[in-house]
Amino acid sequence: AITADDLPLDNSFAELPPAFHTRLMPTPLPAPYFVAASSKAAALVGLDPADLAHEDMVAVFSGNHVPPRAKPLSAVYSGHQFGHWAGQLGDGRAILLGGMRTPGGPMELQLKGAGMTPYSRMGDGRAVLRSSIREFLCSEAMAALGIPTTRALVITGSNQRVARETLETASVVTRMAPSFVRFGSFEHWHYRNKPEELRILADYVIDNFYPELRNEEQPYLALLAEVTRRTARLMAHWQAVGFMHGVMNTDNMSILGLTLDYGPFGFMEAFDVDHICNHTDQGGRYSYANQVPVGHWNCYALANALLPLIGEVEAAQAALEVYVDAYGEQFDALMHAKLGLGTVAEDDRALFDDMFKLMQANRVDFTLFFRRLGDLRVTALGMDAAAREALDAPLRDLFLDRPAFDAWAGRYRERLLQENSDDASRRAAMNRVNPKYILRNYLAQVAIEKAQDGDFSEVQRLLAVLERPFDDQRENDAYAALPPDWAAQLEVSCSS
Ligand code: AMP
Ligand code: MG
Ligand code: MG
Repeated sequence: AITADDLPLDNSFAELPPAFHTRLMPTPLPAPYFVAASSKAAALVGLDPADLAHEDMVAVFSGNHVPPRAKPLSAVYSGHQFGHWAGQLGDGRAILLGGMRTPGGPMELQLKGAGMTPYSRMGDGRAVLRSSIREFLCSEAMAALGIPTTRALVITGSNQRVARETLETASVVTRMAPSFVRFGSFEHWHYRNKPEELRILADYVIDNFYPELRNEEQPYLALLAEVTRRTARLMAHWQAVGFMHGVMNTDNMSILGLTLDYGPFGFMEAFDVDHICNHTDQGGRYSYANQVPVGHWNCYALANALLPLIGEVEAAQAALEVYVDAYGEQFDALMHAKLGLGTVAEDDRALFDDMFKLMQANRVDFTLFFRRLGDLRVTALGMDAAAREALDAPLRDLFLDRPAFDAWAGRYRERLLQENSDDASRRAAMNRVNPKYILRNYLAQVAIEKAQDGDFSEVQRLLAVLERPFDDQRENDAYAALPPDWAAQLEVSCSS
């Protein structure tokens, strides 16, 4: 087992000129304790999850002990918040410990909630247990769903009080990603009129994370096109699973196309394209429907920042146009998979659109709908109506307007028949892409409230369920249930 002082840390970001970051030490967390760890994240960096609960590891991941090879730092960045230029932000409570080499490339370890930094502005540099648990669970849930994301390794906690709407306790969540560079990291240098720093950052990102772009005629332009493509694909993944980020500010947009900075996120339950998951987002800028255009808008902000390096406005515009097709192709592919369709037909768009309209009109639970859709049988086409309705009941009963459902289901079955779809193999394939288990807000809330009472077992248990979102896990059926009535009162906001 690796001991804390042997952690093979290096830090490529620390090699950038001093203007890019501030070297500093984390602020110790009083009497820290272990809360939870992800064994899958630990495996990525070659750590034994059992070791993470040991005292010396808890000391490292609470910011109380800095391993000799670490070069802790906070990075500077800026960004657009809710559509407005916000100026300098930066890692206000995150401290990069260093990077670990893995077979899949470098992975940086970052302590979120590790105390004040020069970028803390009005904040206290801390994260509360509630928000650390939400970030931890959702990062690992998204990874298990196959969606690009930063990872979460471990949560440590302390009884130190932290004031939010109420008094809560402090916690540190250790995040991992090849890089935490954001769109806002580039905007920072552009708005400061520092073309040299802009170039250094772009070269750093290309050399470390997009080395293949070096061979392109215009690497900076190619970087913009590739980030735009990745962002579009990420949006397609979010839409297809009903994930809403909640705060898609440009400082929360990863240059690697990862889901980054989990705060007031939510998963779609009763379907509403205009659903706003973040209570603080009054105007709905980051509603479910708006995520796709906002992702594009954010790429424009990145393009604007990169323009001094790219030179030609027309070329940058062309790179941004990649977004529409990249999104459309990815979303289309995901929808075909979600409906178990092996071929593409002309009317598929209309079939999908009408499905979403039906889900909207009936406020159907997003996850239950797709999961149960896999049980639909083409062979029911030959049955009389009563027998078909009985077979369809678990799915059909999600709809108030049953005749409208029957009409759509009839079209869908005809479409499946057209490609000679086999019920059993299609069901198996659909169950591999339509999750049974997602991180519903109420599930997180139950785990949080127990943890706030000192019982961390539910965090670990929920993680285990979410690590296998596509498996039936019959014993865990309760975790796939619709939210209870009390969940209607749940609100998540930017407070974290
Ligand atoms: P977020 O809304 O989490 O993306 O954060 C926006 C900015 O506020 C980032 O620069 C964060 O580092 C900073 N920030 C958020 N919460 C705190 C806090 N409690 N202390 C210091 N800075 C914070
Ligand atoms: Mg952020
Ligand atoms: Mg943040």
